[in-house]
Amino acid sequence: MSGAAVAATGRLGVMLGELRLPTIKRLAEDLCAQSDREGWRAHRLLEALLEHELAERETRRLDRHRAESGLSPDKRLSNFDFAAVPSVSKAQVTALAEGTEWLDRGANVLLFGPPGVGKSHLVCALGHALIDAGRRVLFMRCGDLVQRLQAARRDLRLPQELAKLDRFDLLILDDLSYVRKDQAETSVLFELIAERYEHKSLAVTANTPFSQWGEVFVEPAMTLAAVDRLVHHSTILEMNVESYRRRSAQQGLSDAPKKGR
Ligand code: ADP
Ligand code: MG
Repeated sequence: MSGAAVAATGRLGVMLGELRLPTIKRLAEDLCAQSDREGWRAHRLLEALLEHELAERETRRLDRHRAESGLSPDKRLSNFDFAAVPSVSKAQVTALAEGTEWLDRGANVLLFGPPGVGKSHLVCALGHALIDAGRRVLFMRCGDLVQRLQAARRDLRLPQELAKLDRFDLLILDDLSYVRKDQAETSVLFELIAERYEHKSLAVTANTPFSQWGEVFVEPAMTLAAVDRLVHHSTILEMNVESYRRRSAQQGLSDAPKKGR
């Protein structure tokens, strides 16, 4: 390469750095060389460079969203066995994963069932699909979130903390039933539910039906108001089957090669 060409590349590199175009910066030299070699029209070169930059920008954005989401990386729809939960329609879950307009309406998803039936798996899988569709999702154990909000309330920054959660199109509250029965805690949870009502979506998993949520919210009027808001625009997935964990353990035992006796 001539001295002049090296100098031009150097200057180009600096400008692309200032413009925050790292992909073009990385590919410019090779693509320009290819363009010269193959006699591309200038328009084609420009388009190729910008296409690469846009594609990588989108990948980086999705990676950021996945990293901030707190979702288990391996709980996906592709490895969820719908046959194990006949009461849940695969088509209905696929519709929630692909048609994301319900998030614009602040609609909710509620998953009920005893421990081990795949509530957390399914809600994580839905979260991943929504991230793939360009949405922002945050998964939190409900107890951890309540503690975080309670700490914020003590420091007089509950509104700021709620505003931070507002950035997420979907907030997943995993295991609502495990929240401790404590007035201060449950009222922050209620405030969160009220704040997001008809505005931003919630997905809630619980191993107790509504009839037992009095255990979580203490005050009957607050329980009613919380249930009312959650249910108003919601998809309810009932998962009343035997624990998948226990079933697969039993399956494992029965599938194990039998040693002859
Ligand atoms: P829950 O949240 O209802 O207690 P989990 O989602 O934690 O249940 O499921 C328990 C374990 O079983 C997890 O490892 C999960 O990936 C797996 N599992 C449960 N249901 C299914 C399913 N239908 N298909 C695939 N794996 C499942
Ligand atoms: Mg769970």
